[in-house]
Amino acid sequence: MPGSKKYPSKIISLHFSKNVSRKPMMCTLARKFDLTFNILKARITPKEEGHMIIELSGPEEDFQKGLSYLMEQGITIQEVSQNITRDEDSCMHCGVCLSLCLPQALYLEKESRLIKFDSNKCTACGRCTRVCPVNAMQVQIDTNGE
Ligand code: SF4
Ligand code: SF4
Repeated sequence: MPGSKKYPSKIISLHFSKNVSRKPMMCTLARKFDLTFNILKARITPKEEGHMIIELSGPEEDFQKGLSYLMEQGITIQEVSQNITRDEDSCMHCGVCLSLCLPQALYLEKESRLIKFDSNKCTACGRCTRVCPVNAMQVQIDTNGE
């Protein structure tokens, strides 16, 4: 299952050579480290070089070990910027996301009893996107045209 509910996730871009693209590196990443991943985009060029954009999630320590493992395999890693938006029409103000939002970008407005979203406080950790029952919270990624 993509992404752990307990841990924040990051979106990263991986570039690797023909030799590396034949290795089962993503399986190793999940098996050796306590990480889960979700492949958002994958492409192999005619020269069999690979490019992938993945969402990686897990405890910070394992996350760093996992990244080191990928770099040792000769993979070039870039963090992809992401931001979170909310589809205001979809949100049903159920409050499921509230306790997960540590910077309180999602909060209960007492007067209206509605769940409000302050994008300026959002750190794009992605926790809310994994629990929202109607997918109102959405990840936008900037791949720089890749
Ligand atoms: S979980 Fe989704 S639907 Fe519920 S309040 Fe949060 S954003 Fe709205
Ligand atoms: S992505 Fe933003 S709004 Fe969602 S839980 Fe993280 S900080 Fe809060």
